[in-house]
Amino acid sequence: MSSHLMATYRPAPVRFVSGRGCRLRDDEGREYLDFLSGIAVTSLGHAHPAVASAVSAQVHELLHVSNLFENALSEDVASRIDALVGDGTPLDGRVFFANSGAEANEAAIKLARKFGGRGRHEVVSALGSFHGRTLATLHATGQPAKHEPFAPLPEGFRHVAYGDLDALAAAADPTRVAAVLLEPIEGEGGVVVPPAGYLAAARALCDERGILLVLDEIQTGLGRTGRWFAFQAEGILPDVVTVAKALGNGVPVAACWARAEVAACFVPGDHGSTFGGQPLALSAARATLETMVALDVPSLARERGAELAASVAALPGVRAVRGRGLLLGAVLDEGIDAAAVVRDALAAGLVVNAPTRDVVRLAPPLVVTPAECEEAVAVLRSVLSSVGRGAASAAVAAHGRGASPDGRSGR
Ligand SMILES: *Cc1c(COP(=O)(O)O)cnc(C)c1O
Repeated sequence: MSSHLMATYRPAPVRFVSGRGCRLRDDEGREYLDFLSGIAVTSLGHAHPAVASAVSAQVHELLHVSNLFENALSEDVASRIDALVGDGTPLDGRVFFANSGAEANEAAIKLARKFGGRGRHEVVSALGSFHGRTLATLHATGQPAKHEPFAPLPEGFRHVAYGDLDALAAAADPTRVAAVLLEPIEGEGGVVVPPAGYLAAARALCDERGILLVLDEIQTGLGRTGRWFAFQAEGILPDVVTVAKALGNGVPVAACWARAEVAACFVPGDHGSTFGGQPLALSAARATLETMVALDVPSLARERGAELAASVAALPGVRAVRGRGLLLGAVLDEGIDAAAVVRDALAAGLVVNAPTRDVVRLAPPLVVTPAECEEAVAVLRSVLSSVGRGAASAAVAAHGRGASPDGRSGR
């Protein structure tokens, strides 16, 4: 069958039509347990009542007026983000609102270039990283195979091995480098956690050389790793932080936070966005952040994450579990294809994905219950034992859905 869609993804043949909390329902009435959250987006679960009512009220009031006018919500949401970057203590930083993670990183890269000044425009990022799909963020993304078809990419990006401080020190030439851009945990790269102390050492190196430390917390931020931001586990403060995925609990909204002194180099006309920070997006962000604080989602992620990691690590076919909080990667035994596990799990009613060939990522809503975690682990146990045996899973048959051709995500 031909499609009118560009083939940038290879979607699994399931059409979800509704969701509540950690559950999804497809167009044939089947129920699924969502342990992906739309790639770490719906942290409060689907159809969260506080977000749903805030967004629906806003729809009836005002959707959009542009950034040529003041906005009743933007100060409020920016100050909430600032306080969370400060782990409860306001930092008096500044926020630029965008619509997607890549755009938040574009803002960070432009800000770093302007702050660095002419000639000092390079950005050093890590191999295995993911920072977005625009031309600049694609070049920042440390996956050379993804660059190749789109050359030439914007100049001024270099990559070093993730977690290797010596490599970072060798690349961070203060006469040319404006910023070091890192994920605190590489999400798309397969939930890779750097050695303890890496971010703190990167912070010290950047301080020593007058280079900005930009942390991409698009996937790790807003409680997912058990802290409001993953860098807080290392007791450091970056110069710039980008936030997106979970910020609107599914409504597209993103932010680039910077300390005031860095942000001050943006003046009117330097950057902008038609939709960035519009009322609809910010109504979702405000309700999401307010609810996240009320629920103390970092502690939920810590508690559920510790239990889930321990249960998954004990499963047959799982070599190790990486990650923190509720951003976990189950590293599978040699010979088990993560895409096959994802496909069979979906057929058995569990939504997960495979960022790499041997890793199954678990990123359920942060409000997931212990019972839902047990249910997911039971499905994984059954799928792993049948994939391990190379046989059809009883759980798959019980759920009554055929296998999709490819369980891997489009990334
Ligand atoms: C998802 C992601 C992005 C890109 O976000 P988009 O909204 O898809 O542009 C950038 N960085 C990280 C770490 C991500 O996980």
